[in-house]
Amino acid sequence: MEEKTIQIAGSITVDELANALGLSVTELIGTLFKNGIVATINQRLDFETASIIIDELGLENVKLEKKNTSTKTSDIHNRELSDKAVDRPPVVAVMGHVDHGKTTLLDTLLNKKTVEGEAGGITQHISAYQLNHDGRWITFLDTPGHEAFAAIRQHGAMLTDIVVIVVAADDGVKPQTVEAINFAKSANAKIIVAINKIDREGADIDRTKADLSNHGLQPEEWGGDITMVPISAKMNQNLDQLLDMILLTADIEELKADIDIPAEGLVIESHMETGKGSVVNLLVTGGELKTGEFIVAGSTYGKVRTMLDWKGKPKGKATPSVPVTVTGFKDLPNFGDRFVEVKDEKTARKMALLNAQAIANEMASANVTGSDLLRMMNVADNSKVFNVIVKGDVLGSVTSVVDSLKLIDTHGEITLNIVSTGVGDINENDVYMAAGENTVIYGFNVSVPINISKMAARDGVPIRTYRVIYELLDDAKHEMENLLDAEIIEEDKGEMKVLGVFRTEKTSIIAGGEVLTGEAKAGYLARVVRNKQFIAEVEVTSVQKEKMDVDSLVAGETGGLALKTASKVDLQIGDRLKFFTRETKKRTL
Ligand code: GDP
Repeated sequence: MEEKTIQIAGSITVDELANALGLSVTELIGTLFKNGIVATINQRLDFETASIIIDELGLENVKLEKKNTSTKTSDIHNRELSDKAVDRPPVVAVMGHVDHGKTTLLDTLLNKKTVEGEAGGITQHISAYQLNHDGRWITFLDTPGHEAFAAIRQHGAMLTDIVVIVVAADDGVKPQTVEAINFAKSANAKIIVAINKIDREGADIDRTKADLSNHGLQPEEWGGDITMVPISAKMNQNLDQLLDMILLTADIEELKADIDIPAEGLVIESHMETGKGSVVNLLVTGGELKTGEFIVAGSTYGKVRTMLDWKGKPKGKATPSVPVTVTGFKDLPNFGDRFVEVKDEKTARKMALLNAQAIANEMASANVTGSDLLRMMNVADNSKVFNVIVKGDVLGSVTSVVDSLKLIDTHGEITLNIVSTGVGDINENDVYMAAGENTVIYGFNVSVPINISKMAARDGVPIRTYRVIYELLDDAKHEMENLLDAEIIEEDKGEMKVLGVFRTEKTSIIAGGEVLTGEAKAGYLARVVRNKQFIAEVEVTSVQKEKMDVDSLVAGETGGLALKTASKVDLQIGDRLKFFTRETKKRTL
């Protein structure tokens, strides 16, 4: 057989790998599925996955080779770039703890950098926008929260080049700051810290820097590698400097993309609009997207009918790092889906169909962990099931809530069962589906009509609505914690040697002895041990010394104990009482 070498730079799409192997895409998707990997045609596989699959297919003549590329994050999709790659604007996400000033920062930048009046005209929710600083563009992403990024990362894409972490100088590093740091690191994004609210009285820049260093971010001025810019988002202080630093970082990173390839990118928002159909926000990451072109994303496809820039102005052509809003998709693609341009409608339809099959497989496999199946199969599984219904204002938020819920680590003890999801207000059907089941309905940015909340109250169905995703996740986490078995904590307290047994009744004993170690105290539990064998568990109800009630007997002292037993215990001289306390503690995830 002819030897074949396939070079992989970072990753390879299912489509590309099938082509390289001379297999049909369906065959490859099938093999991936058998190996527990649910992939769509334009999904990227890493080197390890590709090797496993080639092994699985028994293709001994095929050799995989890792192609060395520059380690720079020069392309969002980790795609190998050609010599013709051109510079592209940086894609920046602003993250940080709640109330530290993310929204204020984005608002001030927007007002500062857009012509008077323009910003005011933007009323709809925007998921991305572009600012011009010193004649160069910067793309900012505004997302429902960190979880959204985590969800995108799960889809195998890298969305941001730079993460600006906002930390309030009067509050320091907080849980979501740490989350943002971890996210940026895991996504391989460059970090710039904006130390905000420096106009405030309690602001302490040095303390904030020290706090950040303790969390692994060393400021440049202290010999580290993280740029930290003290700003006041509210007072518009040092924001130019922050933008300078973003551009400088972009320069160092040499951010580039190919434009002579079919257009590709990511779905960052999608919703339906009356009269327009699907309205989808895309971030182009490679190639140039034009109206009239055919694109596929997940199980849907379409011809780009209209394309608008983030301000709502028609745009004929979108280049890499440019966010646009398009219409023309037959159906709503999911948040985080990769889109690709294809040559004609027939190819688009075929690819969407293949993706739909892959997605159906995913659904089927997801259901295997569902509570119904578990119950039907009567599997003696220690895990408990948490049922949820998720409703959101737009598909993007539903997807990001669902994906984030799935990311809650329950150490395998709780199974999350997504009963259903949907866009729109909570309705009768949701309550109907939740009734009789131990199910929580979560609404994100949606409302609950009064008749529905009455119906839910009557049926005992909990409905929880949130506007902040992490609050929703906190609640879900709390619900799952309630399902966990409590942790039992026992603490040894001491040991007594029994020297006399004065009275033994059905549920009580009076005995005397010498405390060898620790102490004996009323309220302690004790194990009766004879020749190293456990006999029974008893409880100390009172302690006496020289016939007087005392608080405790300590090592070296002798005295009497009244013990409570669950059933008759035949305590004997020479037995040991091993005292301990037992607490049950609610566990957390
Ligand atoms: P987010 O939750 O991170 O989006 O925080 P917000 O942008 O909503 O800000 C939370 C609060 O902090 C608001 O009351 C802002 O007005 C205030 N704030 C934000 N930035 C600054 C700042 O630079 N200085 C002062 N004094 N207040 C600020």
